[in-house]
Amino acid sequence: MNKYWSRRLAGLVPYTPGEQPRDGVFIKLNTNENPYPPSPRAIAAMKDSADADLRLYPDPTCRDLRAALSDFYRVTPEEVFAGNGSDEVLAFAFPAFFDPARPILFADITYSFYPVYANFFGIAYKTLPLDAGFGLPVDAFCQKSGGVLLANPNAPTGKAVTLSDIEKILAADSERVVIVDEAYVDFGAESAVPLIRKYSNLLVVQTLSKSRALAGLRVGYALGDRGLIRALETVKNAFNSYTIDRTAQRCAAEAIRDTAYFCEICENVAKTRDKTAKRLKDMGFRVLDSKANFLFISHERKHAKALLRALRAAGILVRWFDHPRIDNFLRVTIGSPAEMDAFCEKIEAFVR
Ligand SMILES: *Cc1c(COP(=O)(O)O)cnc(C)c1O
Repeated sequence: MNKYWSRRLAGLVPYTPGEQPRDGVFIKLNTNENPYPPSPRAIAAMKDSADADLRLYPDPTCRDLRAALSDFYRVTPEEVFAGNGSDEVLAFAFPAFFDPARPILFADITYSFYPVYANFFGIAYKTLPLDAGFGLPVDAFCQKSGGVLLANPNAPTGKAVTLSDIEKILAADSERVVIVDEAYVDFGAESAVPLIRKYSNLLVVQTLSKSRALAGLRVGYALGDRGLIRALETVKNAFNSYTIDRTAQRCAAEAIRDTAYFCEICENVAKTRDKTAKRLKDMGFRVLDSKANFLFISHERKHAKALLRALRAAGILVRWFDHPRIDNFLRVTIGSPAEMDAFCEKIEAFVR
């Protein structure tokens, strides 16, 4: 910081992204990327769009991408908003739906970007503790508030809640918006998208970064009542009208249309996850029930910090969070079967 920084910036604690090492010697199980390549059709579409038309601005309304999303989710294009990663969609949602003086609610253990956005946009918030088994305190989320933010499945626990719990929270107070961040939903949880017509206070946010193997593309989207979508469009057009470039719009639309490929890689990841979970349990790990593309694990004898260091020395990156309730846990992204074999062999040697 120096004397030129604004006062708002001086007090800000930013989000810390997981490490992206510059050499390729690590097995990367630390940022929940997909081990499979993106849809070949999506890559072809992107290459095809790298032409002289790049001199032109992209479609600010992302019409074709929104058409692909509206077909896939069986909603209208007016119920779809597209952004530069779901992080951007979430960032737009804060000024769109929340007011500074009315505290919003999120869990004490959840995506660590939520408090960063709240502080950045000056929105007050209250964190509600997950129960001892890291379950969501559904009744506490039903209290009156300025808004609700839930990740389902949650990060970094991987635990999912049922649609009936989400409905309970939605119905408890129709005056505030409930954002359900479904970054990991395609790996085995139930999506709240079918509820958007029933609850005009529901915004579902998803991303192409995890289940569609396109973290490098930076495309995310939101589905909800037209009134909510119009609010996001208004914030976007007060900030940057062209958030998604021409090539990314083409690539993303094709990725959404390639349903067969998407289903195949999601199934593979889920299978590898369940196999890995079983192996870890046999080694004495506590493994939370995950519906995501990662496992949240803790060992009865070996401390997570020690395992983190030992794995790193062995060329394997996983994620550790400096938070008192979870500082004896590691979050392990599900990689390819070969990567998970290597991970299991190493970690078994350390805990034996
Ligand atoms: C990865 C992740 C995101 C952000 O995804 P991008 O679309 O890559 O910005 C949002 N929410 C949660 C819970 C995530 O884990």
